[in-house]
Amino acid sequence: MSENKIVILGAGAAGLGAAHRLDDEGIRATIYEKHGFTGGHAASFEQNGFIFDDGPHISFTEDERIRKLFHESVGFEVESFSAQANNYWQGHYIKHPAQVNLHGLPEDFVVKIIKEMFEVKVQEKPEINNYRDWLYASFGKTFSETFPMMYGKKFHTLHASLMDTDWIGPRLYQADMDEVLHGALSKHTPDVHYIKQFYYPTHGGFVRFFDGFLDKADVQLSHEVTRIETKEKMLQFASGQVAGYDNLISSLPLPELIALMDDVPDHVREASLQLACSTCVIVNVGVDRENLSEAHWTYFYDEDIIFTRISYPHMQSPNNVPSGCGSVQMEIYFSKKYKPLTNKPESYIQPAIDDLIKCKILNEEDKILFSEARVAPYANVIFDLDRIRCLEIVHGYLDELGIRYCGRFGEWGYHWTDGSFISGENAAQKILDL
Ligand SMILES: Cc1cc2nc3c(=O)[nH]c(=O)nc-3n(C[C@H](O)[C@H](O)[C@H](O)COP(=O)(O)OP(=O)(O)OC[C@H]3O[C@@H](n4cnc5c(N)ncnc54)[C@H](O)[C@@H]3O)c2cc1C
Repeated sequence: MSENKIVILGAGAAGLGAAHRLDDEGIRATIYEKHGFTGGHAASFEQNGFIFDDGPHISFTEDERIRKLFHESVGFEVESFSAQANNYWQGHYIKHPAQVNLHGLPEDFVVKIIKEMFEVKVQEKPEINNYRDWLYASFGKTFSETFPMMYGKKFHTLHASLMDTDWIGPRLYQADMDEVLHGALSKHTPDVHYIKQFYYPTHGGFVRFFDGFLDKADVQLSHEVTRIETKEKMLQFASGQVAGYDNLISSLPLPELIALMDDVPDHVREASLQLACSTCVIVNVGVDRENLSEAHWTYFYDEDIIFTRISYPHMQSPNNVPSGCGSVQMEIYFSKKYKPLTNKPESYIQPAIDDLIKCKILNEEDKILFSEARVAPYANVIFDLDRIRCLEIVHGYLDELGIRYCGRFGEWGYHWTDGSFISGENAAQKILDL
């Protein structure tokens, strides 16, 4: 084992961020990645001329430095868009966010929503104990129960009363009553989504944004870590190989990291297992038509529509599809803790296509050229009421051992690729500061 060997687990955004920071200081780390490809959660796959990312990925970072790094990776061959998102509810398509785009929905329903929104604005603020309380206090009952609570149930897989509020940030637009009224009277409203401008590589899918970091470390693919001996500072791999480290940075999901480690106290192991996240069945479809949608992505609120959100990779880059074709990516959510996935992922393909037809995105005549279902076991962190307590226990234990954690599932937070990359850089910085 060489002196001061820094090992990074995982070659996703966070692992590559850590490698990049160390490389800046002239330190070459080793990355061990279980898959035979890099990019982790933001990997891209090409089949039959269709490119799909591992769930919809666009870059909307507001961090100039990260944007420049990502764009440099692809030689500045980047597609740039002004984001258009909409909502589907009971046969109606309205612009996103719904609270300022109620125009076109049934009149009595809109009046009820607006009356309740007025009421909560003038009421004394109630005590907020969970996401449901926050929604009621922000939007009133009818809007909350029709839109964000329904969406939350489909996306986060649990009832809003079981969720915390520490993840909300800019994700739910807080409108003033003028905006609500304008949006109820006219369908021409300003764009107020928190994603305004987004970028996507012209060629090769989202993962190309990471190309510039692949030579920043010694990247060992197909190296699945199966055991970590923390006292001896040794890693074992599925192949039977072993390797040592002096400093370890992990971007692995915390429950997986803890499961690999020897001698973990029971309460830490139990806490790691209480950390909840969603699992996403991603249904990808390629069709012989490209004019499928005006919006780049759509949110679905109805319980009887199988998917929660859909997006259109062919609108992110024309090179994501064969000429003249279109593509649709659908997300269907489950979670081990609240809504286990029990069926085979492939069983969701036909129901998803049927719902595309029901929502008038596809028609019966469209020819399906490609379809597949993939599973992202770790999709989004679920901000349930156990999260903060369990996270403190797990992070506290890793801190004691000096193991640095980073990324979406190392920090167990709401990181996008830019946040994950920076989180990796920060983990590396902690080692540099030793
Ligand atoms: C549906 C969906 C849509 C998203 N859309 C966007 C978007 O539009 N824009 C955006 O910026 N972000 C988006 N994100 C978030 C983005 O995917 C993540 O922030 C980012 O990819 C996380 O990177 P990471 O390095 O933290 O984790 P990961 O990418 O999960 O990296 C962890 C790595 O560790 C490896 N690993 C795991 N176990 C082992 C082991 N035992 N041994 C060795 N290696 C192992 C994994 O294979 C993986 O490569 C989206 C996420 C989801 C779920």
